[in-house]
Amino acid sequence: MQLFKDQVLKVSNSLTGEKEVFKTVKEGYVGMYVCGPTVYSNVHLGNCRTFMSFDMIFRYLKHLGYKVRYVRNITDAGHLENDADEGEDKIAKKAKLEQLEPMEVVQRYTVDFHETLKAFNLLPPSIEPTATGHIIEQIEIIKEILAKGFAYEVNGSVYFDIIKFSESNTYGKLSGRKLEDMIANTRDLAAQDEKRNPQDFALWKKAEPQHIMRWPSPWGDGFPGWHLECTAMSTKYLGETFDIHGGGMDLKFPHHECEIAQAEASSGHSPVNYWLHANMLTLNGKKMSKSTDNNLYPDEIFSGDNRILSKPFAPSVVRFFMMQAHYTSILDLGNDALLASEKGYYRLMDALKTLEKLEPSESSSFDVANWQKACYDAMNDDFNTPILIAHLFDAVKRINLIKEGQETISKADKKVLQDSVNTFVFDILGLVDQDNSDNNATTINGVINLLIDLRNNARANKDFATSDKIRDELLMLGVQLKDGKEGTTFSLN
Ligand SMILES: [Zn+2]
Repeated sequence: MQLFKDQVLKVSNSLTGEKEVFKTVKEGYVGMYVCGPTVYSNVHLGNCRTFMSFDMIFRYLKHLGYKVRYVRNITDAGHLENDADEGEDKIAKKAKLEQLEPMEVVQRYTVDFHETLKAFNLLPPSIEPTATGHIIEQIEIIKEILAKGFAYEVNGSVYFDIIKFSESNTYGKLSGRKLEDMIANTRDLAAQDEKRNPQDFALWKKAEPQHIMRWPSPWGDGFPGWHLECTAMSTKYLGETFDIHGGGMDLKFPHHECEIAQAEASSGHSPVNYWLHANMLTLNGKKMSKSTDNNLYPDEIFSGDNRILSKPFAPSVVRFFMMQAHYTSILDLGNDALLASEKGYYRLMDALKTLEKLEPSESSSFDVANWQKACYDAMNDDFNTPILIAHLFDAVKRINLIKEGQETISKADKKVLQDSVNTFVFDILGLVDQDNSDNNATTINGVINLLIDLRNNARANKDFATSDKIRDELLMLGVQLKDGKEGTTFSLN
């Protein structure tokens, strides 16, 4: 269903500061790139919020019938400790600290990232490319930028020339910064650098002898600058100009500004039509920070093993909490807010079960089509999930009144209401009925234990054909039985 032909979606474009009607480069197709994590530590909750926001956007675009190619990268090299192209590579530093190969660090935290996002029920992107897998593409872009005169080489490193670029293009248009102000603010720091101007940024950095993550290039052994990978990977998979580029608000400057500069310098095109930025998550009114202990990891919320919250919270409750705020607003997490979200989440899930069992009447006492339109209007207004959720709670109220006999619903309307509520709650907001999944797990465990009993009986009767059949067929279904002194246990693969 190509719903996008009837729905007018508007998105907040950071580039223009306006809410604009969303029009794709190619009809029916959306190319979306979101800056992924630098995999040198466990993914923190603020990042989860960003990825969850773009997951909701991905889900809604798909629901509208677009064919979406969603690219979200993994930064596994080139991200230095500070934005001024100095300090150690974050991954190499962690590798040294933990005496691991850099790729072991990358593997460990990529797995953590995927597991955490899966717990929050995020859909995987269409392509998840890595920086180290695209070194050749990055070198090619540097060559193009050098050939066009927007970069210069110094002592084995290549820098982007902001002053030269600014003669023909506008650097700072995404973050609303003026080059003159940037120059005025940084004049004192310029002295010891090999850059011509402090605003210039590294496209390629020469690797010092002790630097372990290094690749050969026309300028000697080195590694790419952090901003470059996103330009290389987004344009490789989505084309020189694509529809949506997303990321956290903190990436607007310098990262996204530099991406625009690199793309315009190499291809001559503006790379992105709509820049979308997800806002920050705070904890108890303050910025989350590891150094001040005002910090929570997703695992600590699920297990309740933390000093900030009074109890554990299920991933779907946390996701529901995140969806209750607009993705461009700052959201503050705290115990009371999570408790309130938990209550709301279970009220919503209960109403879904009540809705299934409602007895339809001859006619409806409220306008279901109008309600459904209001839900779409909310989502079409820059993915306004808090308004959508308010409409869902309006439906919850109606459902409970129908149950009490104070409102009525026709058979046809009941079907529309059921389909829409399920679509918005599960497909678009990406919630999971946590109760149900717990119940399913209990049922599966019960069935496996029953089969273990039957197998034990068969073995006691020397009916090995049956006992082997049970073991082998369970294994094919991903259930491994282990016979031990204490009886038979199982694990799910
Ligand atoms: Zn990026």
